Amino acid sequence: MSSVLSSRDLQFLLYECLDVEALAARPRFAGQGREVYDAVLDTAKAVAEAHYQPSRKRNDQEEPQVVDGVVVTQPDLQPAYAATAEAGIIASTHDAERGGLQLPHVVASAAIAWLEGANVGSASYPMLTAGASNLIAAFGSEDQKARWLPPMLEGRFGGTMALTEPDAGSGLADLRTVAIPQPDGTYRIEGTKIWISAGEHELTENIVHMVLARIQGAPAGTKGISLFIVPKRRVQPDGTSGPSNHVTLAGLIHKMGWRGTTSTLLNFGERGPCVGELVGEPHHGLAYMFHMMNEARIGVGRAAAAMASAAHLYAIDYARQRRQGRLPGEKDPSKPPVPIIEHADVRRMLLIAKCAAEGSMDLVLTCARLVDDETTAPDEAARKEASLLLEFLTPIAKSWPSIYGQEGISNAMQVMGGYGYAREYDIEQLYRDNRLNQIHEGTNGIQALDLLGRKVTQQQGAAVAAFGRRVAAAVAEARAAGLETEAAALEAAFAQLVAVTRSLVAAMTQDPTRGLANAAVYLELTSRVVFAWLWLRQATVAARAIAAGRDEAFYAAKVAAARFYYGFELPKNGPDAELLRRNDSAALDFPPDWF
Ligand SMILES: Cc1cc2nc3c(=O)[nH]c(=O)nc-3n(C[C@H](O)[C@H](O)[C@H](O)COP(=O)(O)OP(=O)(O)OC[C@H]3O[C@@H](n4cnc5c(N)ncnc54)[C@H](O)[C@@H]3O)c2cc1C
Repeated sequence: MSSVLSSRDLQFLLYECLDVEALAARPRFAGQGREVYDAVLDTAKAVAEAHYQPSRKRNDQEEPQVVDGVVVTQPDLQPAYAATAEAGIIASTHDAERGGLQLPHVVASAAIAWLEGANVGSASYPMLTAGASNLIAAFGSEDQKARWLPPMLEGRFGGTMALTEPDAGSGLADLRTVAIPQPDGTYRIEGTKIWISAGEHELTENIVHMVLARIQGAPAGTKGISLFIVPKRRVQPDGTSGPSNHVTLAGLIHKMGWRGTTSTLLNFGERGPCVGELVGEPHHGLAYMFHMMNEARIGVGRAAAAMASAAHLYAIDYARQRRQGRLPGEKDPSKPPVPIIEHADVRRMLLIAKCAAEGSMDLVLTCARLVDDETTAPDEAARKEASLLLEFLTPIAKSWPSIYGQEGISNAMQVMGGYGYAREYDIEQLYRDNRLNQIHEGTNGIQALDLLGRKVTQQQGAAVAAFGRRVAAAVAEARAAGLETEAAALEAAFAQLVAVTRSLVAAMTQDPTRGLANAAVYLELTSRVVFAWLWLRQATVAARAIAAGRDEAFYAAKVAAARFYYGFELPKNGPDAELLRRNDSAALDFPPDWF
C-alpha cells in the first residue's frame, strides 16, 4: 500500500460518494469515464512515487541557495517538474484545444493530491504554474492565452502569484506596487513583493509572475488594483525568452517548512524597466485574483488533506510494527510485547488522524466537484446552488484541514512516540509543512471573518440554507440506512449552528466589531458540523455497501470512524456554541496595552 494516499479511499470518495463518473455525460467531459480517470490517477501516483516521495527529505534538507547570483535548487526538482508537465498535470483542467486534458476539477484535484502528499515543497512549483495559467485562461485576452499558455502548460515557463507586499499582507487594499502606462499599451511595474513562492529558480526557462499593482492615479483601496502578467525574461516575437525584465531577487526567506520551495523578496523595476501586460479590465485585478483564490484556497485545503493522509498511513504502518507493553489484563511478563496498535489509546489517536485525513480529503474533493457543477451542470439552478454552497464551504476548506489535519498529524506523531519527533522519520516534516496552511492564501483568522462576515450574511443567508438542504438530504439517507443516532445528532448540530448564526448576525448588525470578535470560534463550530455532514454521508454509503454484502472491512471501518467522530469530535461544539451564544467578549475587552 502507498504511504502517501490510500487509493481505495480516493476511489470510494470519487466514485461512491461523489458520483464522479456522472460528469462524463456533460459535453465538456465527453469521451471521458472511469477508465480515463483511473488512468490519470495512476499516472499521478506513479509520478509522485518516482519523483516526489523519494526526495521529500532531501528537498527539506537541501534548501535553495543563491550561488553567484543564481538560485540553486536540489537536483531532483527539475526532473520532477518536467515529469509533472509531461504527464499533463499542469494542464489537467485546461481546454483540449490549448493542449489541456480538459478534466473535471475533482479528478485533477485528486491527481494533484498525490504530488502534495508525497512532497509538497516540490509540488508547489508546478501547482503555482497551474494557478497562474488558470488565471490567464479565465481573464486573459485571446492573444495573451495564445502567447502565454502553451509554454506554461508544456512546462517551459513557470508561474507565480505575486500579491503580498511588506506592508500589505492580509490588508491587500494597501498594496503600493505601481503600474505606469506606456505609449505602446504596456506598463512599467515598480514595487516590492514579498513571500512570492517559486519567485526565482532555474527549473524553467522563464517565470510568469501574476502581479497585483495599482495603475498610476488609480483610486485608493481594493477598487484601484489591477492584474498584470510580468515575465522574468522578456519574450521575443518567436516565443523564446530574451533579456532580463528586471524582476530582481532581493533575498530568499528561510522557513519552518516547505523548505524546498523558494520564498522570495522580489523588486520589480529597481534595476531597469520592468514591463507588464494588463490582464482584463483596469481596476478589476483583485476581483480576478479572488475568483482564482477560491480555487487556490481549496488547493491549500487539499495540500493539508494530503499531508494529513500521508501522516495517517505512516503512523498505521509504524503502529503495526512497533511492539511495546502488554494489554492491561495481561499479567504474564514472559508474554511478548504487543504491537502498539493493540493499545486502545493508540487506536484513539489513529482514529483522530483517520477522521481528520479522510474527512479533509472528502471536503476538498466535494468542493472541487462543486467547482465542476458551478461551471458545467446542465441547468442553471444546479449551477447557482453549487456556487452558493461553494462560497460557504471555501473558507472551511482552506482552514479546517490545516487545523484538524494538523491535529491528525500531531496524533500520528504521538503514535510514534519519540521516533515521531525525530528527523530521521517523515512525520515531523509533515507537521512543519502543514503548519503553513494556517497562514498562507489568507490566514485562518481572515477565513473566519470571511465566513461569518460575508458568506453567511450574503443573500439573506442563502448559503447556509443551501448547506441546510444538503444536511437534510444526508440525514434522510442516513436514516434509511439505519444510522438513526448519527442522523439525529447531525440534525441537532445543524439546528445549533443556525441558532448561533442568528444570534451572531444580530450582534453584527448592532456592532460589527463585537459581532465578529469570535469569528474564529464560529469557524471551528461550523467546520465540525460540515465534517459531521461529510462523515455521515460516507457512513451511509458504507452502510449501504455492507447491506449489499460488499468489502466488509473497508466499509465497516468507515461506519465505525463516523461513530468515533460523532462521539469524540462533534460534542466539542457544545461549549463553543455556549461561548458564541453569550458572545463572550473577554478577548475583545482586553485592552492592547494590558499585554
Ligand atoms: C511560506 C509562505 C508562502 C507564501 N506564498 C505567497 C505567494 O506565493 N504569493 C503571495 O502573494 N503571498 C504569499 N504568501 C503571503 C501570505 O499570503 C501572507 O503571509 C498572508 O496573507 C498573511 O499576511 P502577513 O504575513 O503579512 O500577515 P499579517 O497580515 O500581518 O497578519 C498577522 C496576523 O494578524 C491577523 N490579522 C491581520 N489583519 C486582520 C484583520 N483585519 N482582522 C483580524 N486579524 C487580522 C492575521 O490573521 C495574522 O494572524 C506566503 C506566505 C508564506 C509564509
